[in-house]
Amino acid sequence: MSDCIFCRIIAGEIPAKKVYEDDLVLAIEDIAPKAPLHLLLLPKRHFSNCLDMADHDEACVGHLFRVAGQLARERGLEQGGFRLVQNNGADAGQTVFHLHVHMLAGRDFTWPPG
Ligand code: IMP
Repeated sequence: MSDCIFCRIIAGEIPAKKVYEDDLVLAIEDIAPKAPLHLLLLPKRHFSNCLDMADHDEACVGHLFRVAGQLARERGLEQGGFRLVQNNGADAGQTVFHLHVHMLAGRDFTWPPG
């Protein structure tokens, strides 16, 4: 989708700081980090959020979570922990309508989230 900023990053049309890439998933640094570590994990196939997932997206999203674990281990986050966040809909804070999972670490987090 040419009007989707994350599709354009995946296509290489917009620069981003890539930290991981394979056939299914791209992980980048968030442009406006909300924590000392703030990564975004993007499925390469466009779908807006979990309301828009098709059957064939299940494997990709499962893989995306495994990649999240791998990136966390590489950064030594097993001890301190980290947060994965995925917003669905504008009222929940979603601003980019291409499913993505935030990985946040490096500070204390409150619960419930705001
Ligand atoms: P959402 O609010 O859950 O949809 O998260 C969208 C995230 O994308 C926000 O944390 C933004 O800072 C981030 N973002 C928007 N545009 C870019 C970009 O061009 N590169 C990297 N991150 C971006």
